[in-house]
Amino acid sequence: MPDPLCIGPCCQERDNNYTSPRMAEPGLAICRWGLARLRRDIQTTPALLDWLAHHIAPTGAAGERVSGSREAPVPVRLDILCMIQEGAVPYRGDDDDQIGPPSIPSTVKTWAWLLCEHRGIAYQARATVAELAGLLARHAEWCATRPWIDDMMADFARLRRCAHGLAPWSVHVQRLGLPCWRCGAQGTLTRTAGESWIECDSSVNGCGCLWSFEEHQALAAAASRRLPVGCPNCGMRSLLRASRIVIGCDRRLDGCGRRWTQSDLTGALAKALTRVQVAAGAAP
Ligand SMILES: [Zn+2]
Ligand SMILES: [Zn+2]
Ligand SMILES: [Zn+2]
Repeated sequence: MPDPLCIGPCCQERDNNYTSPRMAEPGLAICRWGLARLRRDIQTTPALLDWLAHHIAPTGAAGERVSGSREAPVPVRLDILCMIQEGAVPYRGDDDDQIGPPSIPSTVKTWAWLLCEHRGIAYQARATVAELAGLLARHAEWCATRPWIDDMMADFARLRRCAHGLAPWSVHVQRLGLPCWRCGAQGTLTRTAGESWIECDSSVNGCGCLWSFEEHQALAAAASRRLPVGCPNCGMRSLLRASRIVIGCDRRLDGCGRRWTQSDLTGALAKALTRVQVAAGAAP
């Protein structure tokens, strides 16, 4: 029986350069990249609130007047106000523009309340968005076992997308100038201000994977122990020398997680090479 596939938007949306749904992580309904993305999107909500609050005054609009009106222009951006104030329960639609931006506090509270209900945790109605986001982040893996995880992911991804759309963060996106650990693309690794995640930017042909800053540092530290051949089991360039005799296929790079001794691996690689040669020879 095949393993269940990831049900998250991470594997349903084409903009992540994934050609087909990945395998879900064991016990979860989504893949590891979806879980990382969800954690990132939840953890960033307090920073989104701060950022938007700083951009609530319309830039360049001071002194402009609506013709025929003697009133001063509205001194705040209502779309931003919509996102940072509590509003109606977020409504999901296909088109962000038509239904207005979602409220960050309402979205966070709705999911935190749902989590508390399902897990039997006391819901703190007076908790701040940062506290509730922390609670959700700590329970993200449990949420990823639930059938509604795709809705939760879509809601949090939408908060981040809408906030970046209302007050663009593009100037605060740092490009790391390193090839992606996973796909090898040049100049695609990015870090957005206010976030402790490194993402391979799919909008410039990156693979869309992301790592926590700690994982990123660990990958950088392990770079010299990486083997320059594909894994004979899964085909990813993810082999890592774990010790003098053990070589593993690195799951942080989308590998299959299998481990070999040096001599077993040599045999497996030789077999894989034979398979490739047979396939090439059999081709018309
Ligand atoms: Zn996925
Ligand atoms: Zn990549
Ligand atoms: Zn592998």
